[in-house]
This record gives sequence, structure tokens and C-alpha cells, in this order.
Amino acid sequence: MLSDTIAAISTPLGEGGIAVIRVSGDEAIPQVDQIFDSKKSLEEVPTHTVHYGYIKDPERGERIEEVLVTVMRGPRSFTREDVVEISCHGGIISVNKVLQLLLRRGVRLAEPGEFTKRAFLNGRIDLTQAEAVIDLIRSKSDRAFSIALKQVEGRLSKKIRELRQELVEVLAHIEVNIDYPEHDVEEMTSAYIKEKSEKVIAEIDGLLHTARQGKILREGIVTAIVGRPNVGKSSLLNELAQENRAIVTDIPGTTRDVIEEYVTVGNIPLRLLDTAGIRETSDLVEQIGVERSKHAIAEADLILYVLNNGELLQPEEIELLEQIRDRQYLVIINKIDLPNKLDLAKVGELIPEDRIVKMSVKEGIGIEELEAAIANLFFSGELEGQDLTYVSNARHIACLERAKQSLQDAIESVNAGIPIDIMQIDVRAAWEQLGEIVGDAAPDSLIDQIFSQFCLGK
Ligand code: GDP
Ligand code: ZN
Repeated sequence: MLSDTIAAISTPLGEGGIAVIRVSGDEAIPQVDQIFDSKKSLEEVPTHTVHYGYIKDPERGERIEEVLVTVMRGPRSFTREDVVEISCHGGIISVNKVLQLLLRRGVRLAEPGEFTKRAFLNGRIDLTQAEAVIDLIRSKSDRAFSIALKQVEGRLSKKIRELRQELVEVLAHIEVNIDYPEHDVEEMTSAYIKEKSEKVIAEIDGLLHTARQGKILREGIVTAIVGRPNVGKSSLLNELAQENRAIVTDIPGTTRDVIEEYVTVGNIPLRLLDTAGIRETSDLVEQIGVERSKHAIAEADLILYVLNNGELLQPEEIELLEQIRDRQYLVIINKIDLPNKLDLAKVGELIPEDRIVKMSVKEGIGIEELEAAIANLFFSGELEGQDLTYVSNARHIACLERAKQSLQDAIESVNAGIPIDIMQIDVRAAWEQLGEIVGDAAPDSLIDQIFSQFCLGK
């Protein structure tokens, strides 16, 4: 069923320079050859070679597009099948014409993610790598991109396989014990199961610990910029947005009046909440936004609370400073280019020094300090640690948590003196749950669900 030939446009649609149509399957080479006008038949060319020519409509004899065609014979291809990639000059109309020609000849339009699914099913990549391809497509910051890339390279898979290997050793021990049930062997095995389970749990905890950071890097730190009118919120937002190519998003599931915007401060992606209220310059509108600001504060992972160095500290500001102290926040003292009127001593009493960033948005002072302060808050200096293997995928986290629970059950059984063949069930369950992460034990429906998340053409 899977060996039919599929095709799709595999580059983003739009004005781009080159568009690539990818064709994969047993008939990929002969099918493209039928519409390719060139000196040589594609069926005769060596694998992994590129050929110049024209795509022509064989019925009308009309040339449609000037192209480069790349031939990659399986198994040395992304899907391990025969793959042909047609690079067109772009322009959505001509690319579509080429695709339509193939479809008219009986090549099937690929489902979203189908190329990657074939790569997985043909053993070219494992499930974490396939999911990382989804993340690569979606990643919103350079750092998120590099995490996804590492996952594609198989870092997480390697780690999971090591843990599974440990559990296989435990299972082997249990087998031996069941076959040769002398009493002192059993004692030894119980201690061994406990020790190994604890070791694997510690490793799982380490991976789960990275999950929060991974999520932040992938989805952005949800951030609210708040403060009285005129302190410089809009200026800060514009500064961040200008320097960093803001992406205004329309994320499904969020209410329409809350606009979200992505900016990156250094390498750290921020998802700014309620920028609609901040963007407006009229104070009247900002007043209306107060309720929404409160809402944004409640939702935020990070609160940037802005004060004005050139004004006296207001009672309601003191109140708010006290309210946000149990949250993740930074206090920005803006307008340090102005003569100081703000009661810095009072602010210092309420707020520890490492939570205060002095800035002049107008003069461009303090952006780097802001970046460092955010990094410090969320990554406790670990951000530059390039060797961390991040877990950032909700499904992986759930599997890790279940595996951890199973191992805890096994340890409890050991402590309660329950017979060894019962523990075997828990250890085996943990082994299977870890296997689900890399796809070794994934049921088909799960696999379908994962691949349906892909964009067309990947
Ligand atoms: P918001 O009401 O909190 O959004 O404040 P705005 O960003 O609209 O800024 C209010 C005024 O303060 C504007 O005239 C800005 O140009 C000015 N402003 C913003 N940042 C600074 C700064 O660092 N120094 C000085 N002197 N003025 C600033
Ligand atoms: Zn404003």
C-alpha cells in the first residue's frame, strides 16, 4: 500500500526564488521522466545526479517550466524509496502546473507528513527524529531550531536507548532469577532491581527537568509588559520588536482582542501578551486596558514591570511591586537619562538587586542587561550549556512520567518484599513506555496522529 508514488510541493508557498516538488515511490523516476524533456532519460542516469531540462506537457507538447531535476535512488534517499526532486523557478502557477501534470498521470498527492512517515516506516529515522522535523518546521527562534536539530540528529533517542538497555539488563536478571530461584539469588536481584530502577529514575528526572526549558524555548516565555501610562512600555515593545523582527501571530484558541507578538531578546524568545493595549498611544485606551493587563499578569510566565526614573514612585506602584514579588518578574527602571526623582532606596527595599534592570529605551541603554537578567531568571546560567539534551515535546514528557511511575512501583514492590515476577511487569512497562518515545513500541494510531501534524510536502 505504501509503495504507490506520491508528490507534493516541499518548499513554502509564496514568492520564493525556487520551489521544489518532491516525488517518492517505485514509479518516481519513470513518471518524472515522461514529462521531462532533456538529452538523457532519467532512467539511465546515475543516482544522486542533477539534470537540466524542461518540463513538458506530453499531450500538448508544450514546455511548461525550465527545471533542474535531482535523482536519488533508494535506499540512499530521505524516504529510502526512489526520490526525484524537481526544482522550478518558483511562481506558484508554474509549480502547480508541474504538480498537476504528475497528478494527472496517476501520481498521488502526498498527505501532510507522508514523506517523513515513509522515512520512519522504512527505518530511515526514528519517531523522535520525525517529531523533531515537525518542530523544525514550527520552531520560532534560533535556539528552538537548534534544539530541534539536535533531536533530529538523534540525541534524545540515543539517551532513551541507553535507558532502555539498562532496563533490558534488569529484565534479563529477573528472567535468570525465575529460572533459578535460589533464595540468595533472589535477594541479590531485588537489590539490583532497586538500584537500577533508582538510577534510571534519576536519569528520567534529569530529562524531565529540561522539559520546562525546552517548552519555553519552543513556545516562547509568555511575557506581560506592565506599568503606569507614560513610563515607556510602548517604547520598550517597539524597541524589542524593531531590533528583532517581531512576528505578529494569530494563534488559534486565543481571544481576538489579545494580540500576541513574538520577539527574541538575544536568543530568548518572548511571547508578548496584550500588545494591543500597549501599542495604543492614547492614554484613554490604556485605561480600558487595565482589566486586560491584570489578565495578562495572571497568565504570564514573566512580568516586566516598568517604572519611570524621572517620576515619583506612586502608592499604587508600591502595591503592585508587592503583588508581583512571588512571581517571575523583572522591574525595569526606565528613563535613566532623566534626572532621578524615583525613590530608588524604596524600590531597593522591596525588590532584590538582581531583579532590577536600569534602562533608557530612548538612548538604547540596558537591552543587553535585560537579556542577561531574563536568561538568569529562566535558565540559571545554563542557557549557554550546549550539551543539554532538551525534552520539549508533550508526548515525550508524558511517556517519561509514566515510565518513572512504573519504576517507582517496581521499587515499592521490592521494599514490600513482593515476588520478583510481579516486579517484572513494572520494569517491562517502563521499558515499553520509553520505547513509545522512540517509536519502537508505538501503536499504529499513535503513529498516524503524529504524522498528521506535518505540513504538506514534508
Ligand atoms: P507608555 O505609556 O508606558 O507606553 O509609554 P510610551 O512608550 O508611550 O512613552 C511615553 C513617553 O516617554 C514618550 O514620549 C517616549 O518617547 C518617552 N520615553 C520612553 N522611553 C524613554 C527613555 O528612556 N527616556 C526618556 N527621556 N524618554 C522616554
Ligand atoms: Zn503606551
